[in-house]
Formats: sequence, C-alpha cells, structure tokens
Amino acid sequence: MKIDVVSIFPEYLAGLQLSLIGKAVDQGLLHMNVHDLRDFTFDRHNTVDDSPYGGGAGMVMKAEPWALALEHILGGESLGTTVDEQTVTGNSVDAESDAAVKPILIVPSPAGPVFNQRIAEELSGAEHLIFACGRYEGIDQRVIDWSADHFDLRPMSIGDYVLNGGEVASMVMIEAVSRLIPGVIGNPESLTEESHEDGLLEYPIYTKPSSWRDREVPEILLSGNHGAIARWRRDRRLERTAEVRPDLLAELPSLDKHDRAVVE
Ligand code: SAM
Repeated sequence: MKIDVVSIFPEYLAGLQLSLIGKAVDQGLLHMNVHDLRDFTFDRHNTVDDSPYGGGAGMVMKAEPWALALEHILGGESLGTTVDEQTVTGNSVDAESDAAVKPILIVPSPAGPVFNQRIAEELSGAEHLIFACGRYEGIDQRVIDWSADHFDLRPMSIGDYVLNGGEVASMVMIEAVSRLIPGVIGNPESLTEESHEDGLLEYPIYTKPSSWRDREVPEILLSGNHGAIARWRRDRRLERTAEVRPDLLAELPSLDKHDRAVVE
C-alpha cells in the first residue's frame, strides 16, 4: 500500500517510522511519503492560510497550495488549476487520476463521519491512501469539492472532539489501517479476537506470575481446558461490552439463549 500525507508539520509524522509500522515500511509492505504543504507555496513567507470570508475567528487554509500538493502526488498533473506555478513540482504527467480506481483522499475533520474498525478494514485493501492534514479552522471548501472529481474523497473524524490539526488523526487512522495489511502484524491470529473485530470488546488478559500481590489469575485459564476457556472468554467479552458499550451490543445480530443470559 502507498500512503501519502500532506501537512505543514511533516515532522509530526516521524512516529510512524517506529515499531511495527516502521518495520512494514522497511520491509516494503508500506510505501510512506510525507509532503510539506509549504513546498507548494511561492511567496516569501510560504503562506498557507488567510482570513475567512464572511468574518469570524481563526484562519482558513488556502485552496491553491492544497491543489498543487495533491496534483504533485498524482504525478505532477494539473487537474484544472490555471496558475503557472504548478510546473515547479517538476514531475512528468502520470495519469493515475485517469485510472479506474481513484486514490482515496482522507480529509481528517471533526465534521466527518466517525472512523471505526469496519472502515479500517475496508481501507486496508486500498492501493493508495492520501491524508490531507488540516490546521487552523480547516481547508477552503472549494478544494475539498474540487478533489471529489479526482479522488475517492473521504472526510473522516476520529471522534467527537476537536484537535488542533489533522496529523494525530491521520496517524491514528494510518496505524489502525496498516496493522490490518497482511504481514504487518507478525501473528495474524492476534487480530482475530481483538476489540471491535466482531462487535464485542476483548476479554480480560493475564500473564505470569499466576499470583500477583494477592490477586489470582482466574482458575479456568490455568485449566488447559480450551473449550471451557473459549466459553469463559466469550462470556467476559459479552459482560464487558454490555457494561461499557451497550450501544455495540445493540448492533449485534440476535444473541443465543446463553449469550442473552450473560448480558442480562
Ligand atoms: N473548524 C473546524 C470545525 O469546527 O469542524 C475544526 C478545525 S480543527 C481546529 C483543525 C484541524 O484538525 C481540522 O481541519 C482537522 O484536520 C483536524 N481535526 C480536529 N479534530 C478532529 C477530529 N475529531 N477528527 C479528525 N480530524 C480532526
């Protein structure tokens, strides 16, 4: 998978060079490029923002640097801008934009639909993801509308709160998506019983020693009875989900008699 990120703080994304995602990049499972939006400006101050039309607090990110950055990612092709400066990207035209599958452009925004594990699974099958990290009050709406003609546009929120910028939100989504790409997590089985995988939260987990500060590991986990352990784990998942996230439980297909008894 190819991932491009555009930001005015490219160094924010350095954390993605660490741990499993960094290893996936080293192994060639992921191709990650981080672009500085200011490289697509032409004034002395590398201006990327201006005051909002209609008044109000804060600044708005200008459309043109975004269009140039996104065109650069598509291979330097102009996608309908008229400014001469687009030639500075220096790339020859590669008509990726004409390909049948448009790259997915994710625009982090608290005003977008909320990202979740289902969406992470869907995106993990994509060939090319692009993340456009907004700052200030966000990005001029015209470049968002324009990009829908050239990309599979996906505004996306990571939750009902407001961050200062899209970098952290992009990192959250990149990590959630890329760990689902085959080969990124060493043991694929560790993905199967995780929280949100099938609509339930994970069961409580323990490791050695079996007795710690007078707290014991549940006896059943030491029994070696795999069937009983599996049943115990499912029951704990049901209990925990009912207690912490009853909204998730309500979305599950109908529960059998035993499961219903556990959650009631
Ligand atoms: N004025 C915007 C609003 O009220 O919807 C908030 C702008 S926020 C201060 C700046 C940037 O942070 C956004 O453009 C977006 O990239 C990012 N951001 C903030 N909260 C986010 C969230 N919950 N999910 C995803 N991105 C978020």
